[in-house]
Amino acid sequence: MGNLKEEIKQKALEMGFSLCGVSDIKKVETVEFPPDRGLMRPSEVMPDAKSLVVMGFVVWDEGLNTAVATPSTGDFTGGEAEYYNLYYEVTETRAWRVAHWLWEEKGINAMPTHAVHLKVAAQLAGLGFIGHNTQVITPEYGPRVRWIGLLTTAELEPDEPFTRDLCAEQPLCQEESLCVKACPYNAIIPGPSFGVPPGEKVIYDKCVVAHELDRDIDEEWEKYIRRITERGFMECTICNLACPYGKPVDEKIIPAKRGIV
Ligand code: SF4
Ligand code: SF4
Repeated sequence: MGNLKEEIKQKALEMGFSLCGVSDIKKVETVEFPPDRGLMRPSEVMPDAKSLVVMGFVVWDEGLNTAVATPSTGDFTGGEAEYYNLYYEVTETRAWRVAHWLWEEKGINAMPTHAVHLKVAAQLAGLGFIGHNTQVITPEYGPRVRWIGLLTTAELEPDEPFTRDLCAEQPLCQEESLCVKACPYNAIIPGPSFGVPPGEKVIYDKCVVAHELDRDIDEEWEKYIRRITERGFMECTICNLACPYGKPVDEKIIPAKRGIV
């Protein structure tokens, strides 16, 4: 199955993903995750899945962080909100193309999902480190990556987990983590994410993302909601853009996409 794994990775790149790895599905099955975020175990999403592929899409334009939502209680678990998010839709559509190819060409079942704990899955797939801002920091693009999983009935050998501590290695974050410092609401608890109970590293109620769907939005939150239409906005990415590991996206990827180089 070694070749199949490489073929899947190649197909993921062809479909517009920049990173792809195979996670250890058994470990993802047992990992703890925060409650009330709509997360599930792989077996709950696809009971006969044998492997979990993780694919990363580089956010090279802030417009990809656009969301459109009906007013709600700020609950992302489904609830009453009608919620559309561009990077969710883009990654899911592209992942379905990989799934379709697997079925058509190999007769193998596969199903894209955002519902499993993708941050842990990406680390286990060797793609990055869970940084102080709780995002997956990749050596290539920092945290400027949106993730999706592909559950499949194919048996694929998991990749080696990512073992470097990129936050400890980052010279610019030795005195203070730039992501923690950048948050206008002091929502991120300083220090490593590892060892902090799931869901508690970013104080959810203090993060603007938890309030973007509020029915009556306080001025305090409105200040950092990048509204583009009455119900459309770009999600807060301040702590994401602050990470020095994301600079290659500014320096190379964005100019290339804009046709500057
Ligand atoms: S998304 Fe914005 S408000 Fe939330 S932790 Fe990051 S910088 Fe703070
Ligand atoms: S800004 Fe610094 S501390 Fe925060 S995730 Fe990036 S490297 Fe880690």
